[in-house]
Amino acid sequence: MKTTPLDSEICPLPQAPAREPLAVVAARTAHALEGSHQCFLAASDQNLGHFEVQAAADVQELLRQATQRAAQAKADTTPPLCPVCGHGLTRLSGEHPRSFETRFGSITVQRSRGYCKRCHKWRVPADAALGLEETAGYSPAVQEMAALLASKMPVAEASVVLEHLTGIKLPRASLDREARRQGERAQSLRTHLDKQAAYEKKQLELTLEPYQMIIQLDAWNIRERDDWGKSAALRRAHQEPERWHWVYTGTCFRLDHRGRTAGGRPVISERGFVATRQGLEALREQLHAEALRRGLGQAASALVIGDGAVWIWRVADDRWPQAHQRLDFYHAVQHLAAVGRALFGEDKEKFKAWLKPLVQQLKHQSAVKVIGQLQEVLAVLPNGPTAGTVSKELNYLREHQARMDYRAGRRAGEPIGSGPVEATCRQMQCRFKRPGQFWSHRGDEALMSLEIFWRNNRWHLLFPHTAFNPARN
Ligand SMILES: [Zn+2]
Repeated sequence: MKTTPLDSEICPLPQAPAREPLAVVAARTAHALEGSHQCFLAASDQNLGHFEVQAAADVQELLRQATQRAAQAKADTTPPLCPVCGHGLTRLSGEHPRSFETRFGSITVQRSRGYCKRCHKWRVPADAALGLEETAGYSPAVQEMAALLASKMPVAEASVVLEHLTGIKLPRASLDREARRQGERAQSLRTHLDKQAAYEKKQLELTLEPYQMIIQLDAWNIRERDDWGKSAALRRAHQEPERWHWVYTGTCFRLDHRGRTAGGRPVISERGFVATRQGLEALREQLHAEALRRGLGQAASALVIGDGAVWIWRVADDRWPQAHQRLDFYHAVQHLAAVGRALFGEDKEKFKAWLKPLVQQLKHQSAVKVIGQLQEVLAVLPNGPTAGTVSKELNYLREHQARMDYRAGRRAGEPIGSGPVEATCRQMQCRFKRPGQFWSHRGDEALMSLEIFWRNNRWHLLFPHTAFNPARN
């Protein structure tokens, strides 16, 4: 713990001999706290923050020893059974030490080891009982901290923040390694949960309920360096090292879970998230599983909203063929604006005067009328670049005509834009797309899996010791 040391001349801290009863350590801790209390009162330049830091330092050793004893007792009472198959272990031997970092400092635990004849593997049941199996050497609480911090901020920063707030020293490389390990665990748990969602859907006779499931899709790109160091060789072979990759992102929620705060801000009380770098098929299956968990199987109807990207509608046709489709309203407006710019160039006033009624018409009346007007405009234009642009945009709007039923959507209280998924993409880019940042394929997918567990309120499935439910964004 980083502390502002109190004057040790006035408050000498007694040194603890090894293996005392915990009650003795506790008594010494209480004495140290009393001393810190007195020093705090005597120091006119210290506020309560100084005492908080000192008190945490005073109790650290007591907590460390208590943790060490609890871990050892648990290890000693863990039955010699294979943690994977439950079979009794043979060729047992004891006293295999393992040292690891905990929330309160480093501890060492002696464990027994045995051979599982069924798995043909050596097993340490205590490691499974203590939650040490899938770690590079950290207790579950420290594993969680590494996972959470690394999914929220760059690891160099995370390492400093962790040490400052908790006193736990996790160098950047160790923190990175631990977070990735936890992320890979999140990925395999995600796969398991997705299979379960599909299986449960098949098992249940679902009765339809009068709510609508909203599914939104979008994508952003992430910079990777899997070919890092091979750029020159690739260029000699006339290949550009590909560094940018799509992260497909989706969100889903029940329409009746959308509301407004007292202040009028739109909120969605329960919402599922998906983000993956593993391609469209992965997105499709992950988002489908997420939508099932959020009630797609019982939804009376579904609505897919996205921008004009072709892949979105392919995924929708493929996975949710019954769902209604809607083009994000603001994307449609951008295409109208492109026509306006072609017609009026730099004349902002004419541009605005032309665009505004069309936008209103698109929102409150029908896309057919808007398309009809653009056709009239095109009919009197001479051949040339302006006519080319108008024609191109007109084709775009015709192609999406059935997805531009904004009046009906608004009347039904449905969203007409893909704002929620765009907000999710922006938030994820704040972490995963910082200037100068490169990822490896393995690393980004692992950390994104962690972030998605957090957002989906399933953090406790990864770290069962935590009862904390992250607040919804
Ligand atoms: Zn076994």
